[in-house]
Amino acid sequence: MSGTYLVIAEQRGGKLRQVALEALQAAMIASDNRGARIAAVLIGRNAGAIAESLAGYPVSDIHVIEDASLEHYNPEAYLHALDALCGTVKPDAVFLGHTALGRDLAPALAARLKAGQLSDVIAVERSGDETVFTRPLYAGKAFEKKVFRGTTPWVVTVRPNNIPAAAASDTGSGSGPANIVKHDYAAPSSLRTVVKDVVRKTSGKVDLTEAKIVVSGGRGVKSRDGFKPLEELAELLGGAVGASRGACDAGYCDYALQIGQTGKVVTPEIYIACGISGAIQHLAGMSQSRIIIAVNKDPEAPIFKIADYGIVGDLFEVVPLLTKEFRKALA
Ligand code: FAD
Repeated sequence: MSGTYLVIAEQRGGKLRQVALEALQAAMIASDNRGARIAAVLIGRNAGAIAESLAGYPVSDIHVIEDASLEHYNPEAYLHALDALCGTVKPDAVFLGHTALGRDLAPALAARLKAGQLSDVIAVERSGDETVFTRPLYAGKAFEKKVFRGTTPWVVTVRPNNIPAAAASDTGSGSGPANIVKHDYAAPSSLRTVVKDVVRKTSGKVDLTEAKIVVSGGRGVKSRDGFKPLEELAELLGGAVGASRGACDAGYCDYALQIGQTGKVVTPEIYIACGISGAIQHLAGMSQSRIIIAVNKDPEAPIFKIADYGIVGDLFEVVPLLTKEFRKALA
């Protein structure tokens, strides 16, 4: 393989998302130093402003597609811009995060490029001459290993928090620092949708799908106010707050926090489930977390079956105690 592996480096609010570096690492493992160039593309209104920060990573070329019309994610515009770039770069593979943007964009891009697509990849390894991708099935109950056969390109989305992020290097993947290549972009007049504004429902400082620590509440939190001790603990630990559908359905929090089969999938280092029974649909969104801590007053709650640590007790007593002890330990 001697072509180009292209990473769509997702950014939000002028900051590179962690998953962009994880997608870069996936591309590096897949290319296995077989002469492929690793390139990245940044798209957005001020995408060029973060090109320098990406230049510290092992990439040969950083393509910047910058235009006011690309300020907010617009599937048509992004597809149009990336299709044009791929026409020039002719990548053998495209890697991006399995985020809301990646899940929307990848299949459309794959169809446009007549590419094979694998989504929600959690591991990449080389085996002989092949690149083997692992992805979960049946809500994490089984895993499948897949390889691409035949023609390129491939389009691959990687689940956040599973593949270690690429480490910074001084010289890029080529013999010198990365080339920053700016591309002109003009939105076509044929665009059928224009995104005027994006109103975020949650103001959490840490993105739920990328958080290293998630403190989640279920119907056991009993009210909107019941989430306050969880928010306090999450803030102290630099984590994000999540929820079960039970809590969302009860109106205790916004559906943007829902984790599970019909919500977000998270794989943090630590998942703290408070007042969540552990229904199979909830486990589908968090069972791959590295360490699971459950707080529930019912010792028979199913969540304890998958928890690494279980605390049987009232969350309104246990969570403030945890916060107090963590605060002491972190001081
Ligand atoms: P409950 O099952 O009511 O559990 C509340 C728990 O809190 C109990 O275990 C109780 O012992 C404990 N508790 C109560 N008070 C306290 C206290 N003071 N201290 C400590 N513990 C306490 N669910 C999801 O979460 N995500 C999904 O994506 C999802 N998708 C679904 C899709 C489909 C098609 C269907 C049918 C269901 C889906 N569900 C989903 C719903 C799921 O089946 C459960 O109903 C839901 O997860 C239950 O939420 P819960 O655990 O918060 O509530």
